[in-house]
Amino acid sequence: MTQGYDLVVRSRRAVLPDGERPAAVAVREGRIAAVAVYDAPLTAREDVDLGDRALLPGLVDSHVHVNEPGRTEWEGFATATRAAAAGGVTTIVDMPLNALPPTVTAGALAVKRAAAEGRGAVDVGFWGGAVPGNRPELRALHDAGVYGFKCFLSPSGVEEFPALDEAGLREAMTEIAGFGGLLIAHAEDPGHLSEPGGPGYAEFLASRPPEAEGAAIARVARLAAETGCRAHIVHLSDAGSLPLLAEWRARGARISAETCPHYLTLTAEQVPEGGTEYKCCPPIRDARNREGLWRGLTDGLIGCVVSDHSPCVPELKKGGFDTAWGGISSLQLGLPVIWTAARARGHGLPDVARWMASGPAELTGLTGKGRIAEGYDADLVAFAPDRRFVVDPGALRQRHPVTPYAGTTLTGAVERVWLRGEAPGHGRLLRRRP
Ligand SMILES: [Zn+2]
Repeated sequence: MTQGYDLVVRSRRAVLPDGERPAAVAVREGRIAAVAVYDAPLTAREDVDLGDRALLPGLVDSHVHVNEPGRTEWEGFATATRAAAAGGVTTIVDMPLNALPPTVTAGALAVKRAAAEGRGAVDVGFWGGAVPGNRPELRALHDAGVYGFKCFLSPSGVEEFPALDEAGLREAMTEIAGFGGLLIAHAEDPGHLSEPGGPGYAEFLASRPPEAEGAAIARVARLAAETGCRAHIVHLSDAGSLPLLAEWRARGARISAETCPHYLTLTAEQVPEGGTEYKCCPPIRDARNREGLWRGLTDGLIGCVVSDHSPCVPELKKGGFDTAWGGISSLQLGLPVIWTAARARGHGLPDVARWMASGPAELTGLTGKGRIAEGYDADLVAFAPDRRFVVDPGALRQRHPVTPYAGTTLTGAVERVWLRGEAPGHGRLLRRRP
């Protein structure tokens, strides 16, 4: 047999691209060198037998707002990536807004990379931004290695990252299509949004109706078909928009969608009075809508489940739903939150790995991530699928322990994580491979 691997991890529940089975995963120089049968006589410096605990690919979270530099007091690379590592997320892709400067020029990307250098416990890639007037910057950002371009159709929440109108969106998508890039859109149409009529959740929910998502998705899809640009809807909340997405795909638009753990597990009905830790945009809707999102995952219309980890300082979460900062921060909990709900609906770990690892890796073009297969990075997670725990916000590694899951009982615990075959701690800054 082949001698001298750096690491072998054995599990009776290894989650491989073709399903779950007993396997031994052999690692050399940070990559998966072989996937063999469980009791294969492989020799390695370290041989770990997980027994009945599962072995998952490291998760890829393509929707994280780190906020450093500029708003590091909200969240920073050190804290966000430690939370990621603790939650089994071995790669994050950072959003272009909420840090200062926003990542809308190649120069701003360089500033952000410098801020992140040496601070990441896990690997970090970057999205660029498409904002009014930065069309000339998009190619340079693409060449500098961003994985695609985020845009808003409605106000983003921060002044320095304005929304694109239809003409601006067409211009950006035409440019991005020219170099084969990806546009990702926060899809809420400003024409359907209003100021909340009061501080309560019902008023906030009414101010951001499902029609806002439908109208915005229709616009992005129509322009995707018109320009040939590949497009992706971030954090889809409205399940009623799924047929629209299916229709446009059937008509040839290259458009995909993601949703988030909070839309799949929380409901408007359960939001407590003043519970602004539940506030996000688009909003968490009713239980019926939530089940519609699970159907979207099951039939493949939604391909990814990502965190939209979007923290702020706790002071900004004070006040009512009309004034508090919108954003849910629970990056570390995504895997147990989704596993708890998925298993109750009859899904298996391979589904979870597809939604949270290989799906986001494929979306972004993070080749070499998100699968347990030969040649891939040895990003691995030992996961105890039956272990129950109660969420203690104090145990979260994110900068501020604010989470809507506080006190919730979850099933499934991350026990050990490997990043390129080693303990997390020395993450790399990633660039899109040309
Ligand atoms: Zn976001």
